[in-house]
Amino acid sequence: MENIIIVRYGEVALKRLNKKFFEDKLVGQIQHALSDLEGIRVYKAHSRIYVDPVGYDIQDIIDRLKKIFGIVSLSAAKRFEADMDRIKEAALKELEDRIARDNSIKTFKAETRRGDKKFPLQSPEISRDVGAYLLQNIDNISVDVHNPDVIIYTEVRDKAFVFSDKTDGFGGLPLGTNGKALLLLSGGIDSPVAGWLVAKRGVEIEAMHFHSFPFTSDRSREKVNDLARILSIYCGKIKLYFINLLPIQKEINEKCPKGEMTILSRRFMMKIAERVGRENNCDALITGESIGQVASQTIKGLYVTNESVEMPIFRPLIAMDKVDIVNLAKEIGTYETSILPFEDCCTVFLPKHPVTQPRLHRILESEERLDVEGLINEVINSMEVETITFDD
Ligand code: ATP
Ligand code: MG
Repeated sequence: MENIIIVRYGEVALKRLNKKFFEDKLVGQIQHALSDLEGIRVYKAHSRIYVDPVGYDIQDIIDRLKKIFGIVSLSAAKRFEADMDRIKEAALKELEDRIARDNSIKTFKAETRRGDKKFPLQSPEISRDVGAYLLQNIDNISVDVHNPDVIIYTEVRDKAFVFSDKTDGFGGLPLGTNGKALLLLSGGIDSPVAGWLVAKRGVEIEAMHFHSFPFTSDRSREKVNDLARILSIYCGKIKLYFINLLPIQKEINEKCPKGEMTILSRRFMMKIAERVGRENNCDALITGESIGQVASQTIKGLYVTNESVEMPIFRPLIAMDKVDIVNLAKEIGTYETSILPFEDCCTVFLPKHPVTQPRLHRILESEERLDVEGLINEVINSMEVETITFDD
């Protein structure tokens, strides 16, 4: 009997022609995540991926793999020659082990999937035999088909597999299957979650942060690095661009109505991101905007922001409530870093009365007072770039 990890992915979501491409990408991601474990085997069979742990810690492997996009669930299983006696024996061992770890377990259910139609028994018969055998051999246990404490799964394919736990993955699609986008990454709660959600659809991520040094500190920059590092657990290497927005903010402050500061700087952010994104093969921008969350995130504000660029802007949080965004931030591990109280570039020149219902023609008039091209070139020329990975 050998240990094997079963990795399931959402095959229904995969269109036929793409299937092999997705599977190969996913195998590649898994191999990459385990690349330090020499001799480990990862391979594809029966629309699953199998990982042979060859003696490495199984829980550690599962903990790493559950963060890989495209994986729906994982199970640590026992694998052996398909034979009814051995199946019963493995099922008994599995349930005994579970009870040894958790003595509140009082009920179980046996479930079977038979992929090998040549196996002499059909699935319901296998479940019945396994169930009967477990009842005979374990005291104080009973069957509950509706709400069991444990499900003992048997799968019969070229070999037999027995397991009882399923760890959920995040689903989604393997990274690198859907191009690349540039995330506007502030130090806040929302933008890391927005980037994570788009990455979950298989999109590679680069990130851009705007600061107002020396009004914003090195510590706030370090915080953005930390957020990118957490994202890179899921997203792989992240190229992170730093842009100093201060020269632009000063110009706006001097030449335009005070209330337009936020909307004008947001348009600059988009234009700069579009320019740099285009040069680096990104085909969309991502922001953490959500309708009505702050003064600038009115529909009119979003419209005027949109009109600054041609590149599509993805806003995966657009209709989400803050509590749900916060819960997701906690789940992916960015929340604690996001709430650290460091200054943000946008607060430096925050107007007392921001325009919340901007009109495009008025904003365009204000922009005419600025050397938009010159300013954009100036800040891009002094851009800094770092490559972030989580094992740094
Ligand atoms: P967040 O929690 O992501 O900071 P927010 O609720 O504070 O968002 P805004 O400040 O209006 O909202 O920012 C909206 C979006 O604009 C952010 O989610 C982010 O994508 C982008 N953004 C804002 N400030 C910056 C910045 N300093 N650098 C990069 N992107 C930014
Ligand atoms: Mg913010």
